[in-house]
Amino acid sequence: MDNQTLLQYFHWYFNEDEKLWVKAANDAQFLKETGITGVWLPPAYKSNSGGTSVGYDPYDLFDLGEFDQKGTVETKYGSKTAYQEAIKVLQGKGIAVIADVVFNHKAGGDELEKVQVRAVNPDNRLEFTSDVFEIEAWTRFTFKGRGGKYSQFVWDHNCFSGIDWAHDLEETSIYSIQNDYGDGWEDVPSGELGNYDYLMFNDIEFRNPEVRQEMKNWGEWYYETCGMQGFRLDAVKHISTSFLNEWLDHMQERFDNRFFIVAENWNIEDVTELQRYLEITEGRMQLFDSMLHQNLYLASTQGNEYDLSQIFNDTLVQSHPLLSVTFVDNHDSQPLQSLESYVEFWFRPLAYALILLREQGIPCVFYPDLYGAKYKDKNEADEEVEVELIGLPMLAEMIGIRKNLAYGEQRDYFDHANCVGWTRAGIEEKAASGIAVLMSNGEAGVKVMEMGEANAGRQMKDVIGGRTEEITLDEKGSAEFYCNAGSVSVWTLLS
Ligand code: CA
Repeated sequence: MDNQTLLQYFHWYFNEDEKLWVKAANDAQFLKETGITGVWLPPAYKSNSGGTSVGYDPYDLFDLGEFDQKGTVETKYGSKTAYQEAIKVLQGKGIAVIADVVFNHKAGGDELEKVQVRAVNPDNRLEFTSDVFEIEAWTRFTFKGRGGKYSQFVWDHNCFSGIDWAHDLEETSIYSIQNDYGDGWEDVPSGELGNYDYLMFNDIEFRNPEVRQEMKNWGEWYYETCGMQGFRLDAVKHISTSFLNEWLDHMQERFDNRFFIVAENWNIEDVTELQRYLEITEGRMQLFDSMLHQNLYLASTQGNEYDLSQIFNDTLVQSHPLLSVTFVDNHDSQPLQSLESYVEFWFRPLAYALILLREQGIPCVFYPDLYGAKYKDKNEADEEVEVELIGLPMLAEMIGIRKNLAYGEQRDYFDHANCVGWTRAGIEEKAASGIAVLMSNGEAGVKVMEMGEANAGRQMKDVIGGRTEEITLDEKGSAEFYCNAGSVSVWTLLS
C-alpha cells in the first residue's frame, strides 16, 4: 500500500468565495494527483453561530445544512447535498473522508428551564462554592426548524452536566447541574483544573443512558447519510472515555467496518497523558501528536540554539508510531487562535520533512500550507491584525516524494545538535524509490549517510533544498550529503 497522507481541509478563518464543500469536490482531482489519501473535513452540522460558525459550537447534529435554524439553512461550508456530493467525489478519486465529531458540548438551546445548580470554582472544578440554588438556563433543545425529522429526541437539563450562563441572573460562571444521573462532574481523562469535564457551552451528560443511545442513533444516521471512512473526535480529554469506547464499539459492530479514528487530546507538556489515553482506549483510536507539534514550534523559535537531535524526544510518534497522527499546525494553533503556537515559516519545510518523509506516523498537512490563507482578527491586545500565511512552494513535491519514493529501511543520523538526517533505502516494488534527507538549523550541513549496498554506484540529486551538485554513492551505498544553512535537502536517485 502507498504511504498515507491526510489533509486538514480547512482552517479557522476559511472564507473564500467558493464554499468549502464545493471547493473540496472541485479539488478532488488535484488532491489525488498531489498524493493526498484522506481529508479531514470540518464539523458539518448546524452550530449556534449559524452561517459563520467554524463548527465547534454545535447546535443540531442532525442538521447538515438542510433546515432553517440559527438564521440559515446552509452552514458556513454549504448545503447538506453539497456535503454529500463532495464526499462522493473525493471517494471517487480514492480519497478517504474523515468527519469531525464534537461530542463534548452543545450550544444555543431553544428554551429556558429552571435548573438546580451549584457554582464551581473555575480554577478547581472539584470545589463547589455555593449550596444548591435555582437558575434559568438554556438547557432545552427542541430543534423546531427540523420538526422531528430523523430524530424526535428533545434535550433537557438531564442531558447536561454543566453550563456557564444563568439567564435570569445575567451571570457567567461555571454551574454544575443537578440532574437525575450523577453528582457533580463525570470522570474524564483530564485532571487539569481538578476535573476538566466542563470545557464550554452546555456540557453533555454521558451518564444519562438516553443521551448515549441518542448519540448512537445519530452515529448510525450520520454514517448511513454520508458514508465517511472515519471520524476525528474533538476534545476527548473532556469526555467520558467509557462513553467514547462504547460509541466506537457500537459503530464498528453495527457496520462491520474498521473506521479510521483520530482523536484530539491536546497536551504539550506531558507525553504520558497521551500514552495513558491510548491505554484506556485500547487501540480504538489514533491520537494527534501535539507533543511533536510543540517540539517543532520550539525548534522554529530557537534557531540554532535548539538541539535537533532531540526533536523526537517525548513525542507520541516516538513511543507509539502506529497510533500517531503527526502534524505541523492546525486550526487551533494558527495565528490569532486560542492555542497559537504557529511554527515559524523558515522551519516549516524542515517540519514537513520530519513528518512526511519518515516511516513513523501518519502525517496530516494543514490547509494554509498548501493553499495559503489571508485573514483578519483581533489579537490579545484587542487590535485588529491582518495575517497572511503563504503556501509552501515545496510542499506538494514533498507529498509526492512521500507517496512515490519514501520507502524502505530507514537509517537515522540524529547525531548533531544542528544537523540531522536519515535515509530510506527504497523497495523493489516502487521504481526509483529511496531518499536521503539532511537538514540544518544552523550553518550549511554535510554528513556521510548510507543508502544500503543495493544502491551502490547510483547518483543522487537534491530536489527540495537548492543544492546543485550530483553525488555518487560508493560501493557501500554511502556518500557525503549536503544541505544549505537553515534548510532541508531531499536527495532522490537518478534512474
Ligand atoms: Ca465534558
